[in-house]
Amino acid sequence: MSIVYIVSAPSGSGKSTLVNELFKMVRNLDFSISYTTRPPRGSEQNGKEYFFVSREEFKAMIDAKEFLEYAEVFGDEKVRGEYYGTARRFLHEAENRGNDLLLDIDVQGASKIKEKIPGAVSIFILPPDRENLEWRLRNRGEDSEEVIRRRLDTARREIENYSKYDYILVNRVVEQSADQLKDIVLAERLKKKSRAELSEEEERLIETAQACRLGKAREQVQPILDSFRWR
Ligand code: 5GP
Repeated sequence: MSIVYIVSAPSGSGKSTLVNELFKMVRNLDFSISYTTRPPRGSEQNGKEYFFVSREEFKAMIDAKEFLEYAEVFGDEKVRGEYYGTARRFLHEAENRGNDLLLDIDVQGASKIKEKIPGAVSIFILPPDRENLEWRLRNRGEDSEEVIRRRLDTARREIENYSKYDYILVNRVVEQSADQLKDIVLAERLKKKSRAELSEEEERLIETAQACRLGKAREQVQPILDSFRWR
């Protein structure tokens, strides 16, 4: 059985960089390329970061039950959101190859996957604080002022859901965070082994992963939550 890893983070937290670094370090891991109705940003290519489809195509896929989960993201009473969805076929393909699967999806998607696949391992990546997130969103220069405002607002709401995740990773230094992410992924794979079978290196990475478990991370999260609340 494949292990399903769910990675969520507020937009601009550096998640894509961490996930890219992870894939350089870990084998037998597939990335689930989501479908979305939002237009491509920057250098994004169809079939690489996402499959970019029209609303009509997306709705036809919903009707054909092709999604394991899907959600409307960044919408509110005034603005229509964009659809994002995880295709079932990625899980089947990973299983056939004997690989694990990583989903980069939002908080709504994560809870839907957890319902369907209770053994899925969920990881929440956090920015060090609101200022840092705002800076990163502006610095990448991809979004309009209104979109940035909406993303910051969504970030606040998403961060409030951190306690639904198994692991919390605060992205302060990219290299360190990428290593932690790798250790979480590998530590979960090691659960199949008995303690006596573990090498020293394996024990070390289990310890690093343990430090990111939700129960241990709460203290780190509080000041980050506060930086989003009091504005
Ligand atoms: P972005 O537009 O910045 O690429 O992504 C916006 C949000 O949509 C991110 O939080 C991302 O994780 C989420 N997302 C991407 N693909 C999916 C998906 O297939 N399902 C769900 N529920 N969310 C997704």
